[in-house]
Amino acid sequence: MTSATIYPCIIIGSGPAGYTAAIYAARAGLRPLLFQGIEPGGQLMTTTDVENYPGYPDGIQGPQMMDDFRRQAERMGTELRTGHISRCDFSGKPLRLWTLEDEEFLAHSVIIATGASAKWLGLDSEKRLNGSGVSACAVCDGFFFRGKEVAVVGGGDTACEEALYLSKLCPQVHLLVRSDRMRASQVMQERVRKAENIRIYWNTETVEVLGTHQVTGVRVRDKAADREYDISVSGFFVAIGHTPNSEPFRQWLETDEQGYIKTKPGSTHTSVPGVFAAGDVQDKVYRQAVTAAGSGCMAALDAERYLSANGLH
Ligand code: NDP
Repeated sequence: MTSATIYPCIIIGSGPAGYTAAIYAARAGLRPLLFQGIEPGGQLMTTTDVENYPGYPDGIQGPQMMDDFRRQAERMGTELRTGHISRCDFSGKPLRLWTLEDEEFLAHSVIIATGASAKWLGLDSEKRLNGSGVSACAVCDGFFFRGKEVAVVGGGDTACEEALYLSKLCPQVHLLVRSDRMRASQVMQERVRKAENIRIYWNTETVEVLGTHQVTGVRVRDKAADREYDISVSGFFVAIGHTPNSEPFRQWLETDEQGYIKTKPGSTHTSVPGVFAAGDVQDKVYRQAVTAAGSGCMAALDAERYLSANGLH
């Protein structure tokens, strides 16, 4: 097809949500075009063992899993492009999209599956030990720290959830909160306070993650007492929030105050007919590969019904 063609369905994003949407859309005869974006494969490309994705009884490496997703989407007839969609115009029909290189694409329906990016502290040691004890997902990686002490950074609902999840696997969880209060909901704070093996460190900043090849500890600074000390841990979980990758679309779609794209409950419909959102770009609660894949499937089914109902397919 040429770029003047109106594609029935353009999918943006190549994580579990995007590829699953592509598999379903291709099998429904929508001949989808999928843009893989700046980080093909999404967050799973920086994950090592994935043990909680059904269908892989022996576990699988994140990059291998995404390669499997990609090959399946391609085999069903998805056209893949490496480009990044940097802007769009959803004011009329057809829907208009532009790549970073300013190439224009037209579509009758668009599925946004651009994911979210975990926020990091920005320390060199955190980057160096990422995947070697440093993680931004307790549900993904907590299992590998069973019976070991871990630290969690953050004071929001995510940090509380991660700390509680880890407290069921680890003898001691050290929760590092940078100020004298938490931003998390009262109910989550209450649960954390009640957990006997979660110790909260107030006014505590992370100075450095310690370890050569694997995390062995964390150096922190007690801001109130103005002193530094080390805590011995095997795992270091950063839970200071995520940024949904919704920037190019915010002008046209309803989002919440953090930029997550709003979808109509029980569906993937956004505020613009013909535009659907799936995966972490619209989900700040579950954020799992399997839930992202599930919503990718929903988006393809929603797009197919939309196209049929409007005589576009
Ligand atoms: P939040 O933005 O709510 O909280 C981020 C936390 O990280 C804050 O305590 C913040 O501290 C801290 N923080 C930020 N930067 C740093 C840093 N550099 N060093 C140390 N600490 C830092 O993010 P969440 O991911 O927790 O939550 C996002 C949204 O998702 C919220 O609306 C939340 O309610 C929702 N959510 C809901 C869940 C549920 O319903 N089950 C589960 C998880 C999230 P400070 O306060 O000092 O800025």
